[in-house]
Amino acid sequence: MQLPVSGQRQALLAQRKVNRLIHRESLKVVGHFQMVNVIVTEGHKGDFYDFYEHAWPDDLLGPRPTPDIRQLLQRDRSGNVIIRRHYVDYAGLCLSSPYTRQMLKKMLKVAIDAGLDGIITNYNYRWSCACPYCQAAFKKYLARKYTAEQLSEKFGISNLETYVFDRIAGEIPGYPDENATPLDWEAMQWSAIAFKEAFDEILIGYGRKLKPDLIIATWNHLGEMSIAEERMFLPIDMWGRGENYFWYSGGYGPTDLKKHRAGDGWLNCLYIREMTGGKPFVLGKYEGVRLRNSIAEGVATGGCGMGLYMNIHDPVGFQVCSSYLNFLRTHRYVYRNVSSCSEVGLVFPRRSILAGRRLSMDVFRKTGRSLIDRHVLFDVIADERMDRQRILQYRALILPDIECLSDFQCRFLDEFIEKGGLLIVIGKPGMGETPARNDALRQFKQAARIVHVPDEDTDTVIGTLSRFVPGLTIFHAPWTVRVAAYSARNRIFIHFVNYDRDEDMGKNLRGPADECPVKAENLRVDIRIPEGRVVRDIRCISPDDEGQEVHVRWSTAGSRIQFDVPPVFVYSIIEIKL
Ligand SMILES: [Zn+2]
Repeated sequence: MQLPVSGQRQALLAQRKVNRLIHRESLKVVGHFQMVNVIVTEGHKGDFYDFYEHAWPDDLLGPRPTPDIRQLLQRDRSGNVIIRRHYVDYAGLCLSSPYTRQMLKKMLKVAIDAGLDGIITNYNYRWSCACPYCQAAFKKYLARKYTAEQLSEKFGISNLETYVFDRIAGEIPGYPDENATPLDWEAMQWSAIAFKEAFDEILIGYGRKLKPDLIIATWNHLGEMSIAEERMFLPIDMWGRGENYFWYSGGYGPTDLKKHRAGDGWLNCLYIREMTGGKPFVLGKYEGVRLRNSIAEGVATGGCGMGLYMNIHDPVGFQVCSSYLNFLRTHRYVYRNVSSCSEVGLVFPRRSILAGRRLSMDVFRKTGRSLIDRHVLFDVIADERMDRQRILQYRALILPDIECLSDFQCRFLDEFIEKGGLLIVIGKPGMGETPARNDALRQFKQAARIVHVPDEDTDTVIGTLSRFVPGLTIFHAPWTVRVAAYSARNRIFIHFVNYDRDEDMGKNLRGPADECPVKAENLRVDIRIPEGRVVRDIRCISPDDEGQEVHVRWSTAGSRIQFDVPPVFVYSIIEIKL
């Protein structure tokens, strides 16, 4: 744990002291809080069993919630405690157990009393526990959702009350395998809901009763847009509800440019931005080399930039972090009260993924990466959040292998097309396992403003956009540069993040000195200016240039302007004043 002292009370005392010091600097402390994983060892020396049975601090936590430790832990149908391995062996706390929730509340109170301002929970997992508490909770959920006839017909359960589940295949994180039964799919949804309900009861209900302004966050894992991320099965109205910020691991680097790998988390960030509805987020990339690039990627996509792995003890790391953070502070108007002015919407096929269509995620990922490499200004839109007002702001919408949309949403799409929007449909819509829901989507094939792209032909998607959507912003830039655009009242901001680096020179990846960026040159932008507006000034600002601004000359052709972008070291912003 890298604590400066050992012993529960000594560590708590040390933590209180640290908290006071941090508060004196007007900063806040967020503590990590384990929801599930507890360490177990051979012979139980110094592990959770040892703590629970021999070192439980009554004075801090009150009496133990139960003398039987197994009542706290995830178990299989036969009652064996489930053990998983991740560096070390773990047992898992079962959040269906009232004793577990009671224990976690007591622990949370100790943390808050010690002066924490916030809590981030990690290992937000569930391991197919089939303990009596989970049996009862899953039954309650099923009884609420289905009639006795439906239970019998759909799952072969004739008497729910006496039924015993051999397994409850709710895995967080996870995605059902090919042979999963309808009950397994149901268990996935239940476990996502049950986890959030327990989280809400402990952190939001109890935690905020103790401290109404308690900052609450979760640390989850996205990898490279993984279909199994912790919240994939959570109903969208519960997604992040009541939480203040979001941390996702993923988008790992470094680069492998010969293999066309920028080591970027751009698509991840756009997904998280969409799902969090604009709340702060961090993509934890587990990389201490490309500090400039990681901060730039985070803030250019609407997040906070990197938090962990920013090695400020390294002289180069300190210089990079301080210059970038100073830049962000000085130029906060670039990030605040702005809205994305993307031209294309890439729909995230959440319903289809939840309906069992793995391919939808693959097509989404491939299409997204291609749009990023080809400098298309796009937002990710969760299909469940597609509404009229949002859709109509885009020039084109891309549906990547979308199998399910509600009839309601299809009516918006009709209007979108009628008003001149272009719909690009990749794959075979409405041909999946739930055809009844897709009649409206199927009839789109007839419309003129729909381009149907078979398979995953991303080149055709890009070609179609430039051919059929006049007026899109055109960037001349290498694929290693990513772009994003935002607008404010009298401004357009275009962010450029450069991923090109000298991989030979920085091959040791020892630290921030090995970032070795290679300047991107000869960048050119051709952009349409909103009707009735004129350009007053264009300047380029960059944290790589000590915040020095460079004025940019532009030429006008009708409603469009063209200009060259000064060479981009890692991160530059073009500010167009209207
Ligand atoms: Zn359980």
